[in-house]
Amino acid sequence: MSATDNTDSPITQSLLNLSKDDLEQYFVAAGGKSYRAKQVLEWIYQQRVDGIDEMSNLPSSMREHMEKEFHMNDLQHVETKGADDTTRKFLFRLNDGRYVETVFIPASKGLNGKQSSRKTICVSSQVGCAFGCKFCASGLAGFTRNLTAAEIVGQMLAVEKQTGESINNIVFMGMGEPLANIKNLIKALEIITSHWGLNIGARSVTVSTSGLAPQIKELAEFPVPIRLAISLHGATDDVRDLIMPVNKKWPIKELFDSLHQWRLHKKQKISLEYILIEGVNDDLNQAAILAKRAKGINAKVNLIPYNTVDGLDWKRPSSDVCYAFRDVIADAGINTTLRLEKGHDINAACGQLRLKKETAEGIIEAPAKARQ
Ligand code: SAH
Ligand code: SF4
Repeated sequence: MSATDNTDSPITQSLLNLSKDDLEQYFVAAGGKSYRAKQVLEWIYQQRVDGIDEMSNLPSSMREHMEKEFHMNDLQHVETKGADDTTRKFLFRLNDGRYVETVFIPASKGLNGKQSSRKTICVSSQVGCAFGCKFCASGLAGFTRNLTAAEIVGQMLAVEKQTGESINNIVFMGMGEPLANIKNLIKALEIITSHWGLNIGARSVTVSTSGLAPQIKELAEFPVPIRLAISLHGATDDVRDLIMPVNKKWPIKELFDSLHQWRLHKKQKISLEYILIEGVNDDLNQAAILAKRAKGINAKVNLIPYNTVDGLDWKRPSSDVCYAFRDVIADAGINTTLRLEKGHDINAACGQLRLKKETAEGIIEAPAKARQ
């Protein structure tokens, strides 16, 4: 196991890292019966117990033995921002003293005024991010480590516990680049979408990436119909190069080649995410090219006015500019959304709570101001 694969402590393995197959193998190797795996999974994902000692249909000697090898508390709740009924952001402490952020977005009224039943969680996949997009708080202090599958799955259990709500939609749009942690991501996706795990419909799970073309092709082979969102943020290489260093490695042509390949495996529409940043990527020419690119892969486009980040000088364009940009795309016949409401501020500035906490505790140095 590589140094970034796991936490420094505790030394035991997390039960939440294990699939049904993994657990069956464990019990059989230990001289037990494979049905124990099903019992353990029921305790974790249905009964939601906090510890192995509560798994009362396992013999006590078995529980004692398991307690020496496993733990199941990977996240400790530290702080909640935001009131009930609105978007709430949670800060969790990991077992090695690092912090991770998770956002809960409750059902909201749709355009037709009907209450949606969607309860979304925005999960993190890494502590920090190595990709250094110029506008993003998660990349500001660089990369610390990958989250384990248990720490990804644990965010969902911890938020359900904190809110008392049942989550039915998951987006990998928190801290980190999920496709740079693809091994743990795939394990977490298996646990999230399996009937023996969290049992969330794969169509309600969206992985967002800044465009790691080889890993997009790899994830396309994962045999469940999850959704893909691409953080595009620039319709041409020159604009994208300015704000997303990843584009130098996998320019738009290579990225879109990988999206064509994705579409051979998955039926759901790809989403192109596009943050509108004043004077950087909000030119209407970009809108026209974006529309053409979306049409080429039958994608939808989500426009997000930029949310300010402490230490960065970027701004969102005026509402008029946002609407004009949206209209160019909509007029080209592309399904597009533009979210101007305030509630999303807390969401999009993901990475800032953790940055403050780790800086205050001296775990990381205060990041350099803007890197524009
Ligand atoms: N690394 C992946 C997953 C994180 S998703 C990715 O980049 O897709 C986080 C999303 O929030 C990305 O679309 C990112 O571009 C966007 N984002 C980051 N900073 C933002 C900000 N200040 N305002 C609005 N959106 C932002
Ligand atoms: Fe990393 Fe995504 Fe932020 Fe870019 S936008 S720095 S890839 S988290």
